[in-house]
Amino acid sequence: MFFGGGFPGFDGFPGGGMPGGGRPKKGNSTRYYELLGVKADATPEELKKAHRKLALQHHPDKGGDTEKFKEINEAYDVLKDAEKRRIYDEYGEEAIKEGMGGGGGGGGGMADLFDILSGGGGGRRGQPRERKSEDVVHRLSVSLEELYNGVTKKLSLSRKLPCSKCNGTGSKSGKRHTCSTCHGSGVQVHIRPLGPGMVQQIQSRCGDCSGSGYSSVPSDRCTSCSGSCLVSEKKTFEVGIEPGMKQNSKIVLRGEAGCTEPGLQPGDVVLVLQQKEHETFTRLPNPADLIFEKHINLKEALCGCAFNVKHLDGRVIRISSGAGEVIKPGSFKVVPEEGMPVHTRPFIKGNLYIKFEVDFPSSLDADLVTSLAPLLPSSSSESAANGSAAAMDSDDAEQCHMKHVEDFEEELKSRHRMARQASSNAYDSDDEDEMPRGGQRVQCAQQ
Ligand SMILES: [Zn+2]
Ligand SMILES: [Zn+2]
Repeated sequence: MFFGGGFPGFDGFPGGGMPGGGRPKKGNSTRYYELLGVKADATPEELKKAHRKLALQHHPDKGGDTEKFKEINEAYDVLKDAEKRRIYDEYGEEAIKEGMGGGGGGGGGMADLFDILSGGGGGRRGQPRERKSEDVVHRLSVSLEELYNGVTKKLSLSRKLPCSKCNGTGSKSGKRHTCSTCHGSGVQVHIRPLGPGMVQQIQSRCGDCSGSGYSSVPSDRCTSCSGSCLVSEKKTFEVGIEPGMKQNSKIVLRGEAGCTEPGLQPGDVVLVLQQKEHETFTRLPNPADLIFEKHINLKEALCGCAFNVKHLDGRVIRISSGAGEVIKPGSFKVVPEEGMPVHTRPFIKGNLYIKFEVDFPSSLDADLVTSLAPLLPSSSSESAANGSAAAMDSDDAEQCHMKHVEDFEEELKSRHRMARQASSNAYDSDDEDEMPRGGQRVQCAQQ
């Protein structure tokens, strides 16, 4: 949707007044030259130079005035075309605008501008930007081993390509028949008056040709594609998964998704990697780092441990603790540079982390305790859990026995439930958060 603007390009304002400045008088054949700051007999080269300079100077992206910029482009669009320039010189601006209102040719203003801004000296002058088909996104499931080592995967995809028999024209003769509804523009334009001198143009894709600008004539229809211009084709791709790629890494097969509509550039196939879970290793936030959990027993925790791990490339690595090293439950160790390869730098590897869990025996034989206790160093649990060690000396200490708590989270919940129940029974209160008066009384009594 354009507001008061012309279509295509900046070709004037069909059907409506000019926003801003007044409507030029019929027969004015000098304003365009004045806008570009050139004489009426300027050569095409001089016009081009003048336009280039002014367009850069007044470009809205560079803080220029949008209206001025449009006018400069409008003037140049007319004067660079020998035929339009002749009409302009002879009949003036009005004649040009009336003649171009039908949505015919022209429209080079924007394309020229892209050339200027991209610094290119031409090449694709005058060509509108080509529309592209939609991309097709696929999830590609890969194992951690494949991401470690790299792998080539085969993938079969069916897509629609321009029919080779008719060169994507849809016709036997190879001619493209312009859609009569939209006159080949692919767009239908509706003009709606907004107010005095203002119109709003609403563009929608042409329903008869699906926006392609071409239609199919029954007598000249290509039999291979039935005039649809596109044929389905299946292709098998070899997709290279590089070592170190990670979850959600994208592999783009440019232009391999085929066309969603005739005349459009083919879209891309975008493959998004989905890493399967591995039974041993997990990747860490730094995707080159790996971690795994290792359960050891109490003896290993105290006296040292050594174990084998099968790595992702099939190697078996042996990991052992240092002499005299005690491994505590929940502690972490690291084997440097035994993680994943770094993507694009496969000879650099991340770290391999190990989280240790110690499986304690649930009970010990009394005889074993008798023989073991003198061998082990005094442990910290013999000091008081709270307060000074002096408390341990007291002979008046009361005997208490501990019971096992299987699941502490669950224990907390059930204790909380119990407290709520007790309070609602005792005070018949609906409000759980209200402090029971009895509770406060107890507190007061304690003080
Ligand atoms: Zn059409
Ligand atoms: Zn065909």
